[in-house]
Amino acid sequence: MSYLPTASLPPTPGSAPQALAGSPVATGSLAVQWQALQQHLETTFGSADYAAWLAPLKPVAASAGSLTLAAPTAFIAQWVEGHYAPQLQTMLESVTGTPVTLTLQVAPQFAQSFTQNFQAQQQPAQQRPAVAGGPALLPEVAAEPQPEWLSGSRLDPRYTFDQFVTGKSNQFAFAAAQGVAGAVQAGQPAFNPFFLHGGVGLGKTHLMHAIGHAVQNGKPGVNILYLSSEQFMYKFIKALKDKSTLGFKELFRNVDILMIDDIQFIAGKDSTQEEFFHTFNVLVQEGKQVVLTADRSPHELANIEDRLKSRLGSGLTIEVHAPEEETRLAILQAKAESLGFDMAPQVLQLLAQHIASNVRELEGALNRLVAYARLTGEPLTPELAREQLRDLFRVYNRVVTIEDIQQKVATQFNIRVSDMHSPRRAREVARPRQVAMFLAKQLTNRSYPDIGRAFGGRDHTTVIHACETITSLIPRDSGLAEQIDLVTRTLQGR
Ligand code: ADP
Ligand code: MG
Repeated sequence: MSYLPTASLPPTPGSAPQALAGSPVATGSLAVQWQALQQHLETTFGSADYAAWLAPLKPVAASAGSLTLAAPTAFIAQWVEGHYAPQLQTMLESVTGTPVTLTLQVAPQFAQSFTQNFQAQQQPAQQRPAVAGGPALLPEVAAEPQPEWLSGSRLDPRYTFDQFVTGKSNQFAFAAAQGVAGAVQAGQPAFNPFFLHGGVGLGKTHLMHAIGHAVQNGKPGVNILYLSSEQFMYKFIKALKDKSTLGFKELFRNVDILMIDDIQFIAGKDSTQEEFFHTFNVLVQEGKQVVLTADRSPHELANIEDRLKSRLGSGLTIEVHAPEEETRLAILQAKAESLGFDMAPQVLQLLAQHIASNVRELEGALNRLVAYARLTGEPLTPELAREQLRDLFRVYNRVVTIEDIQQKVATQFNIRVSDMHSPRRAREVARPRQVAMFLAKQLTNRSYPDIGRAFGGRDHTTVIHACETITSLIPRDSGLAEQIDLVTRTLQGR
């Protein structure tokens, strides 16, 4: 095999832009060879494994015939020792043509480097382009690749308390989030865990990041780990599979604030939950702040043990509600201003009136209009806005109620509306009832308990079960999927 000469190295995925803080920088040729090998390692072992195990390694000492690599945790060092060391050694030998001794050590300074990386990532990023109707994009920041284990996602620099517009619907959540940030800064996490829940696009992630920014500013050097629940589960399951929960706990050792977003996706085996439960307890006991978000309250979470549910709800649990029209208008004004776009008040009003359920949609609509206006140079009139947002308006200009849903579903499935409330469990009424519950969750802003009550006083777990059943049936049962689609269209006036 041949490697690129060091003189013409392309930027390699694992090459750190800056040297490991506080550690002796290895300048020996083996260290350089190590950097040169990075791309090859990634191709050889695959990006996921490379990112998990090899990218985190940093050369800290090198001399003729010996190279010392530092790993951020004992677990990574051990894993590399056991799984990769012989191959790495052979590769290095084939590059240098001499015998090589490879040593692995654990570098406690990596903990620092993690903090520094984190801070580096908090530098203001360039203005992002407006994405028409698209999801929020994180700014591109060239960050030192972090060990996959240790890395969370970056905090979005726009998601600060300053940028959060408050109104009746969210001022309590806002104040609570500020309270949490203040308590952490004072070194006394008071509301632990802080559990923020509510529908999609209502600002949960925004507030979570805002806590991170506030603490970061007030207390530089604090270690914040922000993970999606997918990232969390991935790391967790991997750790369990590798029988290395020790390593997993170690991962959190230097973390002052753990943030996990959208934990409704955390579910699964009891053993996983057990470990999560323990890790979680340890963090709280050690005075570390845990911040969680979900689309529903702790007790409405499905597939999670009661004990864990009650633990999750044992701190401060707050719901973010959909903003009322006045707040929607204020949000739009703020966003238009931050885009530097002078939008006619009638157009803002129109958006605030028609797009009611979700701030993300509101933002998307605004972005789309701004992009359109900038591209075409056409003056943005209410008529033009209507035209450009036809798809969004159509969905939102009709408020769908649970009663509408029950009626339309009953008609579609040829059952009586009263069967929606009745205790009858025969398949021919139970299935349509489940469809109606599913649609109630999809098309209205009502909570699971609310929906349960509207269906003859059923429990929220019944509603959750119905939603899950229908969700899993849709891809498998095209007849049912078509019926649901039809009812949905009728309900939305499409
Ligand atoms: P969630 O996590 O609840 O699904 P996000 O926090 O991702 O929602 O919010 C969706 C978008 O709406 C984000 O771009 C966020 O900045 C914006 N947003 C939500 N609520 C507000 C608010 N009150 N003020 C300003 N922007 C908001
Ligand atoms: Mg979110």
